[in-house]
Amino acid sequence: MTVRSARALAAATAALLTLGGLAACSGDGGGSDPDRVDVVAAFYPLQFLAEKIGGDAVAVTSLAKPGAEPHDLELNPRQVGQVADAELIVYLAGFQPAVDEAVEQNGGKRAFDVAGVQPLLDAAAGGHQHDGEAGHEESGGKDPHLWLDPTRLATVGDRLAERLGRVDPDRAADFTARATALRAELTGLDADYARGLATCQRREIVTSHTAFGYLAEHYRLDQVGITGLSPDAEPSPQRLAEVAEEAREHGATTIFFETLVSPKVAETVAREVGARTAVLDPIEGRPADGDYLSAMRANLQTLRTALDCS
Ligand SMILES: [Zn+2]
Repeated sequence: MTVRSARALAAATAALLTLGGLAACSGDGGGSDPDRVDVVAAFYPLQFLAEKIGGDAVAVTSLAKPGAEPHDLELNPRQVGQVADAELIVYLAGFQPAVDEAVEQNGGKRAFDVAGVQPLLDAAAGGHQHDGEAGHEESGGKDPHLWLDPTRLATVGDRLAERLGRVDPDRAADFTARATALRAELTGLDADYARGLATCQRREIVTSHTAFGYLAEHYRLDQVGITGLSPDAEPSPQRLAEVAEEAREHGATTIFFETLVSPKVAETVAREVGARTAVLDPIEGRPADGDYLSAMRANLQTLRTALDCS
């Protein structure tokens, strides 16, 4: 091979590599479809919102893997690329550190932080604490699980519609109309919750991780979380004893566990106090079947049974 042909080959290889790189980027981005807004959603409830409000005018990519718990999500290089390429990134600051970091590095003005829509509740709000208790390890922090209050999710939806309308002004009216339709559904859900939980024998809910603060606050329930705000925290034997004591004190007949987290801890407490276990879905991942609305309705039935509501 001559020096010249070797150089030519090197140049051609470099060009191919560059082309390959570009193709990989646009291909994996899920759509360089010029007719649709490329939206990256950080986890399921935000994906649900973006799909409902965006309709066929958006192409939504979710960063959370199906069946995986999204709190401790890690992003691979492809997903960091998706964040960098997206026209709109819908995320919740403070919920997933890896997403916060990617947004900080590559999100720029294309990020929409749903935590900024309404002030978040304090971590302890909606929880059950007695005077003198040490409380949650995250005390002082904010509770990210805002989607479990449907009225809050409706407000986030309205703001998301405005934001999408700025990205694609020709379709602003469509986004607004879909947000209004979703608001009607969420208002109906809220009314069913208020009615369904109005008169119950008990109001304490013993949950795996402290995900139900917004729901508890809105519907006057009292949450006793076994682990803290994050599901992977291992509760101490002392915490387990405290929770068992609480459960007994309030005559809890059901200890709730979650879809994406091992039921072991809930089962331990349930055995200790002679209670049943049941699934109460924090809807952090996509439900196995149905969607946010059907999962919320299933949760309502579970709560009504567990709390003996009339
Ligand atoms: Zn959570």
